[in-house]
Order: sequence, then structure tokens, then C-alpha cells
Amino acid sequence: MNFQLDITTLLYLFIFGNLFIALLVTFYRFYFPKDIASCVFIAAKWVQVLYWSSILLWDVIPRFIGIPLSNGLILAGGFMEIAALLMMMGMFGRRVKLYYLVLIVGSIISFCMIALFFNHPNLRVASTSLWSMFFVILPAYLLTSNKERTPLQSMLGFVFYAFGLSMLGRAFAALFLEPGMGALSANTAQYLYYLGMFFLLIVGTAAFILLSNEHSYKKLKKMATYDTLTGILSRRAFLLEAEVKLTLAVRKQEYYSLLLLDLDHFKEVNDTYGHDKGDKVLQAFAFTIESSLGNDDLFGRVGGEEFAVLLYGLNEEDSGRKAEQLRTAVMDAPKLNLPCGYTVSIGVITVLPTPRTFFNMLYKLSDRALYQAKQQGRNCVVISR
Ligand code: GH3
Ligand code: MG
Ligand code: MG
Repeated sequence: MNFQLDITTLLYLFIFGNLFIALLVTFYRFYFPKDIASCVFIAAKWVQVLYWSSILLWDVIPRFIGIPLSNGLILAGGFMEIAALLMMMGMFGRRVKLYYLVLIVGSIISFCMIALFFNHPNLRVASTSLWSMFFVILPAYLLTSNKERTPLQSMLGFVFYAFGLSMLGRAFAALFLEPGMGALSANTAQYLYYLGMFFLLIVGTAAFILLSNEHSYKKLKKMATYDTLTGILSRRAFLLEAEVKLTLAVRKQEYYSLLLLDLDHFKEVNDTYGHDKGDKVLQAFAFTIESSLGNDDLFGRVGGEEFAVLLYGLNEEDSGRKAEQLRTAVMDAPKLNLPCGYTVSIGVITVLPTPRTFFNMLYKLSDRALYQAKQQGRNCVVISR
């Protein structure tokens, strides 16, 4: 069986394919906050619709207008799509921008040189293919070599490699295999081109939508897990993790200590120096405590100026000592740009938990010890017996 697809059919396929995708992502994004990456991506899709449509004009308008117009459109559309992807993954830094600036200037110069001195379709096709390959090779590399890449990112990186490879094949075919090429002729080079574009159209778009979901999910998870002011665990995340650790401590029969920390006379700090300075104190406090803890310890902000620490595997004496160490670390911390020194009171409860030990009960006991610390004049540690 001999299947032949003519180029005009493919052209219409791409015009409508891009058009529907452009409409789809435009409508999809109506509902969501419009971040810059998505806006650039949507604009890229519309520019690509114009590109594919502009090829239809080649038969109607003079070639010396039609060809630069189409080339300009695909240069812009392709670049914008790649830029949007890199922006969304936070990879569109200064050096990447410089790389693309060089590519854009280089490709325009080479296009003009070819148009002026060696105006031959084969050379035009070979040159645009090679430049396109350089456009995708960087994101392909960045996506597949990034240490924290997700499987989706690797997959997209390979799509870019596949596109780059098809462009390389196209350049090769234009230079060595298809001597007398017309712009819309059906030949190996053109089929390779459509294959590459197909990769980008379908997989590239789907990947962008999925990546943007992945990105939003990561952001939401971070927001739910970490306190925005201090960067430590939020109340909810701390309590969840503390419950998990409690189950573990029961199973492994390990000591389990809950420390509640409350800054002393913090209202005065706010009243005297203002809320902003109060925030600075909270940040400095969180930094001091975090620097004094080990990797296995949990540390969270459970209230405005109330914090909790979970120590795992330390008996009552050791966790009391640790609490004392935290208290002095806070007292002795350098003031730096803070308006005043500050101190903390700490309540501690240590247990060798059984299946009937409940976290809420430990929290209450530790809070009671903290209350006693406040009663005893603050800036001290009280251990719940
Ligand atoms: P005590 O020694 O008894 O703990 O006295 P205190 O002044 O610290 O009393 P309390 O715990 O009742 O006061 C907590 C204050 O913390 C009240 C509130 O204005 C302040 N606060 C709570 N959250 C924040 C915050 O995010 N930023 C700032 N700057 N202040 C906060
Ligand atoms: Mg307080
Ligand atoms: Mg308080």
C-alpha cells in the first residue's frame, strides 16, 4: 500500500490544529491567574496560526514578501513558545536570554545573506532547519540535565531532542538528497519538517499544560506546608508530621518530646518598634532555632509568636538540656539589625509513647509547662512531669 499525503492537506491540518489549540489554551487560561509564561505561550500559539496561514499566501503575494513574512512569524512563534516553557520552569535567566539573542540575530543575518547572495530554496531550508535545531537544543539539554527534573520534564526534553534531530535530518536532506526543491514540494525534507512540527504541536502543547499544572501544584503545596514569614513548617504541616512521628515512636519505642516556645513580652516589641520590626524579630528567632536543630527534628510556627519543636529519640534529661540550649541560643543571638534583644519561654514534655498516647494530650501538657515558665518570670524552661 502506498500512502501519500500532500503538503497542502498537511498545511491545513497545521492551521486548524494550531487554531484549535490556541483557542483551547486561551479559554483555559481565562479562569486562571494570568502569569506571564502562560500569556507568552498563548501569544506564541496565535503567532503560529498566522505563520501556517501565511504559507497559503505564498501563491498570492510576491515571494520576496511572503518568505520573509513567514520566516519572521515562525521565528517569533517558536521563540515565544520555548521562552514561555523556560520562564515557567524558572530557567529563563540572563545567559539563556543572551543565547537566544545571539540565535535570533544570527538567524536573521544568515537569512538576509542567503536571500541576497545565494537565493536558493535548498539553502534557505537547510539554514532555517539548522537554526531551529539550535533553538531547541538548549531547552532539551536543560530539561534532561536538571537535577530536580520531573518525569514530565525529561519527556519534554526528549521531544525537543526529537524535534532537533528531525530539523538536522531536514537540513541534511535539503543539502544532499533533494537537489531541486520547491518551497512547497513534497519530499523527505518537508516530511521531516512536518514530523518535527507535529511533535511540537501535540506533545509540546500538552506538556505545557501539564507542566503548568505541575508548577501550580508545587506552589500550592509549598504555600500549604511552609509559613510565609519564617519559611519553617506551618501549623497544619507541623501537626501532621508530628502525628506521623508519634506513630513511628510508638512502633519503635523511641522517646518523643514536644517543646512549645513562646516569645516573651512580644506585644511590647510590636508596640514599641512597630509590627514590621516585630516580624523581623520573628524571622531572626526562627533562624536561630532552626540553626540549632538537627535534620530529624521538626520545627513549626503554631501561632503568631508561638512555635513548636519536636525532638525524636532524646530522653527527658537530654531534651531538657536541648531546650535550655535553644533558650540560651535565642538570648545570645546577635542583634544585627534588630531593634532589641528578646527571650523565649519553653515548655517541654517527654514521653516513651504507647498506643494510648495522644498528640493532643502532649500538646496540652507542654502548653501547661510553658504557662508555668511564664509564671516563673519568663526566659526559662519548664519540664512537664
Ligand atoms: P508573654 O510573655 O506573656 O508571651 O507576653 P506577650 O506580649 O508575648 O503576649 P502574647 O503572647 O499574648 O502576645 C502575642 C503578640 O504577638 C500579640 C500579637 O500582636 C503579636 N503577634 C502575633 N503574630 C504576629 C506576627 O505575625 N507579627 C508580629 N509582628 N506580631 C505578631
Ligand atoms: Mg508571648
Ligand atoms: Mg503567645
